[in-house]
Amino acid sequence: MNAHQPPRPYTSYVYAYPHKTAYRPLPDRPALTGLWAGEPKDALSLYLHIPFCEVRCGFCNLFTRIGAPDELTTRYLDALDRQATAVRDALGDASPVRFATAAFGGGTPTYLTAGELERLCDIAERRMGADLRAVPLSVESSPATATADRLAVLADRGATRLSLGVQSFVEAEARAAVRPQRRADVEAALGRIRDSGVPVLNIDLIYGIDGQTESTWRHSLDAALAWRPEELYLYPLYIRPLTGLGRLGPAADRAWDEQRLRLYRYGRDHLLGHGYEQVSMRMFRRADAPPQGPDDHACQTDGMIGLGCGARSYTSSLHYSFDYAVDMREIRAIIDAYTATADFSRAEVGRRVDSGEARRRHLLQSLLQAEGMPLDGYAERFGSSPFADFPAELARFEALGWLDADAPAGLLRLSDEGLAHSDGLGPELFSSGVRAAMAAYEAK
Ligand code: SF4
Repeated sequence: MNAHQPPRPYTSYVYAYPHKTAYRPLPDRPALTGLWAGEPKDALSLYLHIPFCEVRCGFCNLFTRIGAPDELTTRYLDALDRQATAVRDALGDASPVRFATAAFGGGTPTYLTAGELERLCDIAERRMGADLRAVPLSVESSPATATADRLAVLADRGATRLSLGVQSFVEAEARAAVRPQRRADVEAALGRIRDSGVPVLNIDLIYGIDGQTESTWRHSLDAALAWRPEELYLYPLYIRPLTGLGRLGPAADRAWDEQRLRLYRYGRDHLLGHGYEQVSMRMFRRADAPPQGPDDHACQTDGMIGLGCGARSYTSSLHYSFDYAVDMREIRAIIDAYTATADFSRAEVGRRVDSGEARRRHLLQSLLQAEGMPLDGYAERFGSSPFADFPAELARFEALGWLDADAPAGLLRLSDEGLAHSDGLGPELFSSGVRAAMAAYEAK
């Protein structure tokens, strides 16, 4: 990239660093018992991954498959149970083990039936020891699978947040970029979620769809606002169907970037004008909503236990998971291999996180939050300053007008434009080692 050119605004969504494409098979297959022995375990996060969906959405590159033939969900839950038992054994009881948050993600966790969701909660509670009714529990869902019986199970077992991927309330836009869905079905699902009594409703919306304008975007935003969701996520579209403008090359890419930036600004201003606060580029929270547990700011130092074939786990020095793929056939093979696994006592695929990477991760995760990063927290953890550790990157962000010159002393914070360019800025902070590993993966 030309050092004088700003990066494109939509390079990639940095929801975790290092990205899974930088993971590699771990030749020593370290035992989980050793990996977790010296780690603090009294405020862990628990994540259970359900890699099934009814349909594949046009924009989705998550680790998931369509449908689950031949009792695959049963075999998957059996494997989750075995994995949970092995992981809980590895955590041991020498120091207190407590889960501070829990989440079911996917895929679509509510692809599981009500009875299977009961079993999923049992695995979290009885095998892992998570007290689901006492901690924030977030669950992702889709309009067709957010049925009353499933929601009743989740509400009863302690779900505090239900996230519904709506994407667009305009049927033609849903057909173009998402999945065909009827507005009436989406509204009915939202009604069922509100009826379930789960306290936090999150609605996901997408901008940058072919033909989407300020006016149709506003239509979706207002339709979502009518439900007064406690949270709203506005996602830029990343994958376009290869139709129309999609084939036209750099000029079309620039036009698409401009459309997305325009709609982002429109959406942000619209939500700010309707009583919402901006938490990050994507996340908005209703200002008068009661605080309900964690947002998308991954805790900087606490460990994470991920169960399921697409879930990551983090200790302070190793991020690990199972094999990763985006190709459908590969994903199906990985899920099948997971369900056939008997020994879950070792980490198979991952990436070590040394002190340099830990600094990058801390900076990335804090800077991409609207509230910014307190410099004293960074100094306390690393004994230095981000300006000493990342002088070139921060000077470049400053030159681009992406740092807030009016932030209070002691706070490193993005400007409005910096936040708008989060998906261009984030990847600029990747280390050369992680970049090289990601590039080599993509070349496969
Ligand atoms: S429901 Fe979610 S995980 Fe499944 S294909 Fe659609 S966006 Fe991807």
